[in-house]
Amino acid sequence: MVEEKVKLQESKEHPLDGFLREGRIPHIFCPGCSLGSITNILLEAILESEYDPKDVAVVSGIGCTGRIAGYLNFDSFHTTHGRAIPFSIGLSVTDPNRKVIVISGDGDLFAIGGNHIIHAARRNANLTVICVNNFNYGMTGGQAGPTTYPGQVQTTTPYGSQEQPFNIPDLMASCGAAYVARWTALDVRRVKEAFSEAIAKNGFSFVEVLGSCPTTFGRRNQLAEGKKILEFFRENTVLNHNADTRDVSISHDSPIIVGRFIDRDERPTLTENLLKIQRMSQAKK
Ligand code: SF4
Repeated sequence: MVEEKVKLQESKEHPLDGFLREGRIPHIFCPGCSLGSITNILLEAILESEYDPKDVAVVSGIGCTGRIAGYLNFDSFHTTHGRAIPFSIGLSVTDPNRKVIVISGDGDLFAIGGNHIIHAARRNANLTVICVNNFNYGMTGGQAGPTTYPGQVQTTTPYGSQEQPFNIPDLMASCGAAYVARWTALDVRRVKEAFSEAIAKNGFSFVEVLGSCPTTFGRRNQLAEGKKILEFFRENTVLNHNADTRDVSISHDSPIIVGRFIDRDERPTLTENLLKIQRMSQAKK
């Protein structure tokens, strides 16, 4: 074992190298961004899951988080803005044995893609959706988005946002998601556990990961280093599994509640319902 580890260090290879598209590296992530470690956690969770990597597809939309799918050496798809979910539903219903994982940002999934995600949860589409929430549109320069909380300064909210953000876990829970969790990028082991549980779930599973974006969120909000954002998470999060999702909104003046909020009995998935309709239609002929 020790010899193997020494060999690995000497070879300078990382055990996950084979699962990255070398030609796409170097990546675009800024120093201090949590997207690199979240990519690593996702890879580990997939490789430890019951699925053969050949039977996994990773889909993302546009934005910094949206770049992740393109870096992974799976069947992966970097789709148009806000359209990761409809693309994934197509994949999932036409290839029911495939595990389809969506990873994208808060702006992509809950602004332009908002209509798609609520209906995917309502219909119990067989998807695992991971939303990395960095509270702003990072890639386009730091505009306020649907998760920007009151008082947060962004390029479009120089006096602090005055709007109510989405309470994402509650939105997903009320739409019928089978699994809903929220963790921060600091909670590496918890994030991995949540990814594994979400991947194992049949039906619509959802994980929100609060990520560090020092470049466009942090520097306007006195958190200009990735480390400072992680320290902020450490000092301002409270663990409460099974919290009532109505109580987990994020604001600047109360602790952020993290945990596994929803893990409920599975109802028929969209794919199962479509197959049922197919059988009914064939029986009628
Ligand atoms: Fe990460 Fe923010 Fe840089 Fe995007 S802009 S790569 S989210 S730190």
